[in-house]
Amino acid sequence: MAALTRLLRSAVTSGSTARISLSTLASEPKTGFPAGLAARLAPSPARKGREDRNVQWVFLGCPGVGKGTYASRLSQLLGVPHIATGDLVREELASSGPLSLKLAEIVNQGKLVSDEIIVELLTKRLSKGEEKGESGFILDGFPRTVRQAEIIDGVMDIDLVVNLKLREDVLLEKCLGRRICNQCGKNFNLASIDAKGQNGQPDMYMPPLLPPSQCMPKLITRADDTEEVVKARFRIYNDKSLPVEEFYRRQGKLLEFDLPGGIPESWPKLLQVLSLDEHHEDKQLAAA
Ligand SMILES: [Zn+2]
Repeated sequence: MAALTRLLRSAVTSGSTARISLSTLASEPKTGFPAGLAARLAPSPARKGREDRNVQWVFLGCPGVGKGTYASRLSQLLGVPHIATGDLVREELASSGPLSLKLAEIVNQGKLVSDEIIVELLTKRLSKGEEKGESGFILDGFPRTVRQAEIIDGVMDIDLVVNLKLREDVLLEKCLGRRICNQCGKNFNLASIDAKGQNGQPDMYMPPLLPPSQCMPKLITRADDTEEVVKARFRIYNDKSLPVEEFYRRQGKLLEFDLPGGIPESWPKLLQVLSLDEHHEDKQLAAA
């Protein structure tokens, strides 16, 4: 994975719009090769034939759609790490590495974390996994921009991109129903969704995720879960993600998946479209 690390770094530094120079972030010296040449000289483990490694998948989806839940369940089923860039940023912030100071500054100023830093964090995570013998991954929250997609395209093969979609009215209701217990920190959802089917689709029912009685009086709503902010989040997401979806659609790797409801309806359907339903039953039998 050291080769992959170098490749990702050189791919990023060859970009013209680097806001923060990677040389200030990376302790290892950069290779002098252009990314394309380096790729030919040193095939990275992520370029291994599909039969020699585990799946390398990407999950796309609007905030609140439940992407993390499905990505995490699938990663357990397939035995690959679920790598969420949001978690990588939070972990780095909580650490005392040189990157954490830079990150704190960016986040405190309300700025977006640059592609360079995200790629750096992802590279670090993949190298660590490689050392532990991990193979394959499910990425969640990355790539977020076409530039990020191009960077990873230059150094590793993505097999499949799953685009999770949920009706926007239902998604909005779900986001507005989110609550956190200010004592134990657990997440709940008060939204009880019972939406009439649109365009020939069946009705959609999603029960609330209610807290135990001791948490009920301690529930708080996140400050950024107002209708205005949630809608703005959708708009920003759509603006950025549509080109990423198009990027993978052109490559024939995009799998559109309309969530038919909550986890009980959606999970078996998702396994079915991924041709994993037999695999799933095998595992259940093995566990029984
Ligand atoms: Zn609680």
